[in-house]
Amino acid sequence: MRIYISADLEGINGIVHSSQTQPGEPGYERGVQLMHKELHAVIDGIRSSGATDIYIADAHWDARNLRCELLPPGVHLISGWQRPFSMVSGVSGAIGEKALLGKPFDGAFFVGYHARTGVACGVLSHTYRAQVYLDVRLNGVSVGETGLNASLAGHFGVPMAFLSGDDAACSEAKSLLGDRLTTVTVKRAVSRYSAVCLPEDEVLAALKHGAAEAINKRDYWSLYTPGKPVTLTLTFVDPAMADATELLPDIKRLDDRTVELSQTDYSVLFRLFLACGVLAANRKDPYF
Ligand SMILES: [Zn+2]
Repeated sequence: MRIYISADLEGINGIVHSSQTQPGEPGYERGVQLMHKELHAVIDGIRSSGATDIYIADAHWDARNLRCELLPPGVHLISGWQRPFSMVSGVSGAIGEKALLGKPFDGAFFVGYHARTGVACGVLSHTYRAQVYLDVRLNGVSVGETGLNASLAGHFGVPMAFLSGDDAACSEAKSLLGDRLTTVTVKRAVSRYSAVCLPEDEVLAALKHGAAEAINKRDYWSLYTPGKPVTLTLTFVDPAMADATELLPDIKRLDDRTVELSQTDYSVLFRLFLACGVLAANRKDPYF
């Protein structure tokens, strides 16, 4: 069985502030150590249930957080930008022209995930670009990285098997992907910058157990697809960011801060979403 892991950092136990997630900031190196530990526990669980082919996509910031030499033997690491499909690069079984396993993965695990932008009680809640998006809606439903990325996995026929993060991320995932999704809560959010961190020994045991259980529950994995056509509605922090996205074709301006785009092929829409993020971030002003 071939398992794909998209690994983020904000939803790791012990992480409560952005300074723990940014290279060069105090706390970052410890944050990455904690990320490795949680991934080890998840991989132990996956392997205890018999899955052998495991690829991890480093899905945080510049995707140069994880170290291949610190991962368990036999695990492949997808590292660094620029790459197609961002946090879920390679879930289709290929990255651009580079084949990974020749066909899509059997199931997807999201580790260290966080709540969507706008959630008050969710540690470091955001959707892709924290300083760009006020809201991201998929066919009218506000979604975060979980929804956007699970939809891309679903587009390629890869079902969601497992998600870990704070309690806000887990409840967001269950409400979107269904109650049968295996989730492991590693901390309980108190606010956007505070959480009750659970005892590390308990968290690592729960991750190992949950990952093993997820593999054993493969008959209940859900393929999440947003339907066709699919519409993405983006509300930006700054109207100038919405202006910038109008450089792209087929963008509909809904109001000062909001644009909308529709496609029948979700993989095209996902790439347009990433392009909107690049264009909008280019309009960030340090003073206004
Ligand atoms: Zn991240």
